[in-house]
Amino acid sequence: MMIERLGRRAVLRNGTLVLATGTLSSTALFSDALFADDDRAGLRVGLVTDLHYADKPPAGTRHYRETLVKLAEAAAEFRRQQIDVLVELGDLIDAAETVETEQRYLATVNREFSAICDDRHYVLGNHCVDTLKKDEFLGAVGQSKSYYSFDRNGFHFVVLDSCFRADGQPYGRKNFHWTDANVPQEELDWLASDLAATDNRTIVLAHQRLDVSNNHGVKNNADVRRILEASGNVLAVFQGHSHQNDLKEIGGIHYCTLVAMVEGAGEENNGYSTMEIRQDGTIRVRGFRNQASREFV
Ligand SMILES: [Zn+2]
Repeated sequence: MMIERLGRRAVLRNGTLVLATGTLSSTALFSDALFADDDRAGLRVGLVTDLHYADKPPAGTRHYRETLVKLAEAAAEFRRQQIDVLVELGDLIDAAETVETEQRYLATVNREFSAICDDRHYVLGNHCVDTLKKDEFLGAVGQSKSYYSFDRNGFHFVVLDSCFRADGQPYGRKNFHWTDANVPQEELDWLASDLAATDNRTIVLAHQRLDVSNNHGVKNNADVRRILEASGNVLAVFQGHSHQNDLKEIGGIHYCTLVAMVEGAGEENNGYSTMEIRQDGTIRVRGFRNQASREFV
């Protein structure tokens, strides 16, 4: 069953007061009673993706500096909702001229991000490891691995890393083309054994898309999907990279693509969400600003 609910944009379209005043909190306008706050989920996860933070002027639709203000709004909402887990789905930073400058961008945005929640997880995006190498990015954010799994409240989470070239070399320091995204055999083997070892219902977290075969898709995503479907426990995949809302269902698994925080100027062009997983397996994504809300079972 898949029900697509009205997102923040639709609410704003009918409620111009928030755009006019800019003083109401984002939550004040959210009218969907299904997301009552006293109705605690099995688990509540804060989700952001494609922040592309950089201290540089806008380019096209990407407003790099505004990410800090947008992230502050998301942080206030995540604190209000008392999220259990915080996930960043990749492209936390955008490219800098030098490694030192890039490390400064990362330190700046991670100072804000890391203050939101102790239980936080970083998915590597291609922009995270454009200027930096993987160990430099991971070292700066305090995460030991680029792909791994963890359990919370009886749910299993898998963080994937698709930042590998077709020849298996890890991305880093401008050694790749962004469309050449792959999950190498070693990671596929790990994924299969990791999923075989759990009976918990599972959520997969990825940057590049596992549900499309265009430039935004992982090249061998059919191999990944085969493993996810074989497990029988995977409820959903959350991903970013293409910067637009999308939701597909393939082989009984929902692939929910989240909107990019960096896209567009002004607070109205923010995008972030909280995702509730209930013990009955229902997943509800409560989207803010340009992020669509979703509910699926
Ligand atoms: Zn991006």
